Amino acid sequence: MTLKRNERKITIKELEAANTARKPWAAVRGNVYDLTKFIDKHPGGKDFLLAAVGRDATALYESLHSDTNTKVLAKYKIGILLETNMPQYAKKSKFTNDLEKRVLAYFASIGRNPRDAPWMLLAYGILTAAFAVTYYGMFSQSVAQYSPILPWVAAVLNGWSAAMTGFYLLHDSCHASFTRKPWVWQAMRRVYESITGLSTLVWIYQHSLGHHSFTNVVGADPDVVDENPGILRVHDGQQWWSFYGLQRYYWFPLYTQLILSRKLTEWKCLFYDRRFKHIKINPPQTSEYFWCTTVMTVYSIHHFVLPYTYFNHSILRILALHTVTDIAWSTYLTLIVNASHINSEVAWPKADSQGKISEDWAVLQIKSSLDFAHGDPWTTWLCGGLNYQAVHHMFPYVSQYYYPEIADIVKDTCKDYGVPYHIKSSIWTALGGHLGHLSLFGEKPVSS
Ligand SMILES: [Zn+2]
Repeated sequence: MTLKRNERKITIKELEAANTARKPWAAVRGNVYDLTKFIDKHPGGKDFLLAAVGRDATALYESLHSDTNTKVLAKYKIGILLETNMPQYAKKSKFTNDLEKRVLAYFASIGRNPRDAPWMLLAYGILTAAFAVTYYGMFSQSVAQYSPILPWVAAVLNGWSAAMTGFYLLHDSCHASFTRKPWVWQAMRRVYESITGLSTLVWIYQHSLGHHSFTNVVGADPDVVDENPGILRVHDGQQWWSFYGLQRYYWFPLYTQLILSRKLTEWKCLFYDRRFKHIKINPPQTSEYFWCTTVMTVYSIHHFVLPYTYFNHSILRILALHTVTDIAWSTYLTLIVNASHINSEVAWPKADSQGKISEDWAVLQIKSSLDFAHGDPWTTWLCGGLNYQAVHHMFPYVSQYYYPEIADIVKDTCKDYGVPYHIKSSIWTALGGHLGHLSLFGEKPVSS
């Protein structure tokens, strides 16, 4: 018996080898698609699609696409995936379909596309300017002469502004949530890379492919500790060791180190290891080598060359000021992100022995996130909208500008379907919950 062309059995190994622009295959719900003829037509841009090929991309695909998209995809089907190595959520529930309908109906009623928020340009401009001004404050000799303390204060604020560009330029461009133009996302990414010296492509793999597709799923979400023992114990799946009793103290020095470790490892992850934790990174396109060289040249000039040659600082002072910046940046970023996902109220979904997760993706996005300070514009601004974490996870392609407007729709739909929505009144209660969770999971479990 001969099989039809699109019913050929394809192994996971064969799929994983088809991970380039020349041979881009991706699997969704057991079907394998050859996207060679679609790659330049993808409305979400080529870079995002190239990150999804060579793997089972079911969770990522279903979180961003509707059934109409699946009809378009059908004509590119080439075969059936024999087995998968990724956890599989239950199919979309009535809750998910209804919530999507309600939010899209809201945008239709106001006559706006969820990505169109030109006012965001103001935020991007202010934050880039804040980075430049605080940078000048760090290294200007006249500022240091006016007050020897000011450069160190400027270094802390420079770290804050770098974290904020992450919440705005990086996050919005990597979710394609500002405009529908791939060149705009590309420009925002390269500005961010030039400022920070970090790779946005690695972040797309970590954040969009890993964290958003498998939020808090142990072993699949790269933001969740899955080693035994990890440095921190944050969920039941980790064995308890006595040193965890001290994690209520050592979380702070640990949180200050994030950016330095990322600066030392990200480009290596992309070009050499081709892996971020358990997530395989596909061979980068030639343009990525060009961009790496360009942005790292710009970064090296403002990070080291100018402070040494133009502002006349010693190497030691330059390194000390950058260290203060990195510590402030790491701490601010880590606390805000961890407050939303690492606390005792959220879910930690587990796949069964077959790799199946009993609930659908959207329900678990709500259950594994914690919101805080709804209706507080200052907190919303200072967190880049991530105080609406559940809303962001449900609709990552919607501009953060609209989160406060659609939050009530999400909350009302959750109420209608009995899906628990976690929300705290302020950032302080959310942070308290996070630190309390670290203390709780540091203690010896009763059953041990
Ligand atoms: Zn995100």
